[in-house]
Amino acid sequence: MQQLSAEDFLDRMQQLILNSAMNSTYKLALVLSITDAAVLKCADPGAVGADGLCRIALADVAREFLRIYWPQRLAYPGSRPGVKPTVLSQSFNRRGGRDSRDAVFNLIDKAVKALRVKRPAARLETYDQFAAADKRAGDQLASRCATLIRKNPLRYIARDAAFLFESDGSQIVMAASSLRLLVRFRPIISELAQTRWISHLFSLEKNRELLGETAELQLRSFLFAPERDALLEGIRTALIEAAGDERCFYCGASLRNKPQHVDHFLPFSRYAHTRIFNFVLACPRCNCSKSNWLADLQHVEHWVRRNSDQGRELLELSRDTAPAGALEVADMALALYRLAGGHAEPLWKKSGASGLTYDPGLYAAEIVPLLQNNRENMTRLADARP
Ligand SMILES: [Zn+2]
Repeated sequence: MQQLSAEDFLDRMQQLILNSAMNSTYKLALVLSITDAAVLKCADPGAVGADGLCRIALADVAREFLRIYWPQRLAYPGSRPGVKPTVLSQSFNRRGGRDSRDAVFNLIDKAVKALRVKRPAARLETYDQFAAADKRAGDQLASRCATLIRKNPLRYIARDAAFLFESDGSQIVMAASSLRLLVRFRPIISELAQTRWISHLFSLEKNRELLGETAELQLRSFLFAPERDALLEGIRTALIEAAGDERCFYCGASLRNKPQHVDHFLPFSRYAHTRIFNFVLACPRCNCSKSNWLADLQHVEHWVRRNSDQGRELLELSRDTAPAGALEVADMALALYRLAGGHAEPLWKKSGASGLTYDPGLYAAEIVPLLQNNRENMTRLADARP
């Protein structure tokens, strides 16, 4: 297992991604899934073994694989009138029509159909909703998907990805330093992989009519933004109800009768799971300005207070929208801030202030203890859940 410098790691990742969309999108999906599974893993205090290696179960990689493809199997709305919404082709396969649907789409469709019979009213728009509706079905689907990944693309990517991981078929093994680099560079990795994915779909003859003059941004949000309008609307309503007012979390401006954004407190580009505890209400200005940055100390203090004051309401309100994720988000916050402190990353202050703060001392002295405290609060809250 190699220990690479950040420069060499990025160079190899770039080659891996650029080489990964020759025929289909499976290899890209695997690179993204491994990255996202690594993000989750880095929040696990026992992630690194005594041998300095991290082991990630292939079933956990498969869950991320399912999360990515879940919305993509739905029909893409045609780019102009008269074009029938159709499922996008993802690969250069020979057969046309229904038969050419990707194996992962068939796997998901079959599982959804089976669960529908048992739970006709369940919302099954995302893998998380599916797994929440029936945990056993969720685990079973992840295990079937792991089998699929093992056949293709895992073994086809093995040589190009040897710098990153080894696999024995049931888990992937990587150096602790590689895990940290995956988490640190997730924004770049996902951006490049998504761009490569999009250009692959545009290059397929079969998608030509459907995509027509589609803007790249529109396709990107269809493919990679799991939070559709209805879900975001549910989250927005829940945040307002729990807070009892409509203010920007960051600058405090009243947002009554004004545009309201729901912002990922831990940026979406670094941690892409949809969890209620990771959302705050924000004005468009703060949301856009914060972008991919982690928020500064004052916002962390506010967030920890919010979680503790409104925790019970948020848990309750999460029932009809997305998983609450109180503990998962608390773990992620601790892990991501610790990691950012390790390379002295600047933090974002509310818009209108000076922008970014460069004070690496803040992490260890103030932020990490606060987030440890938040984690304890969230453990108690999760335990107290009826
Ligand atoms: Zn604001």
